[in-house]
Amino acid sequence: MNRRDFLFAALVTPIVSNVASADEYRSNFVEVFGVSNRAEVERECDAIIFRLCDRYGTPKNWVKFPVVFTGGGRGYAGCTYYQKPRVVRVEICQPFASARGGTLDHEITHAFFFYLLNNSFSLFFNEGVAQNSEYNQRERLRSTVYRRASNGEFVPLTSLVNRSSYDGALLVYHQGFSVVDFLIARGGSAWLYEFLDDLTNGTQDLNECLKRFYGYSSFSDFETDWWNYVDGGQNRAGVEPLIKKVVK
Ligand SMILES: [Zn+2]
Repeated sequence: MNRRDFLFAALVTPIVSNVASADEYRSNFVEVFGVSNRAEVERECDAIIFRLCDRYGTPKNWVKFPVVFTGGGRGYAGCTYYQKPRVVRVEICQPFASARGGTLDHEITHAFFFYLLNNSFSLFFNEGVAQNSEYNQRERLRSTVYRRASNGEFVPLTSLVNRSSYDGALLVYHQGFSVVDFLIARGGSAWLYEFLDDLTNGTQDLNECLKRFYGYSSFSDFETDWWNYVDGGQNRAGVEPLIKKVVK
């Protein structure tokens, strides 16, 4: 049984209309509101969730939640609301066409990780992982990272990794994106999940987790390596991969 079948088997009651015409498609994981093409958008949400499962692993528990398209003018592109033990609502403040590959993937990723890690977790890594899901924005984000780093706008990672609130300069988003991008380059997405799980539910000590999962003897070694990645053009293929995945 592959992961996808398992997810269906474990989490949902099969709905016959899933095999009916495209217009009748219903997601078993979300319920979409505020669009005229609900079937298409639910199908896209499912595709995002399946991609996340393939990358990071399958959540053990899932409670279906609403994805609401609200239109703009709210001062943010999207938002995900949680209240343990469930995701309450995902809000998308853009039309589907512009949110696809961007905000929609970003917010669904927050919801997915809420279920995957059974916890809310580090704001810095949470935003970093969500930003990395925005596949239409990834190259633009790398350009932004390079420009801001070159302009001296970036701050030491120690001042961001433990933040519990957003910074006005969006550094949590941009440096978070870049650090996650770099860690995926080093060990892949599944390994990043193992690291985040230990950071959230296990050791809960960033220095210790970086040592155990990525072999850094100090935080500054890690930070130097990340800076070299940014300076070197953010080329994932040029990053030295982890040779030996040890730890647990
Ligand atoms: Zn976010």
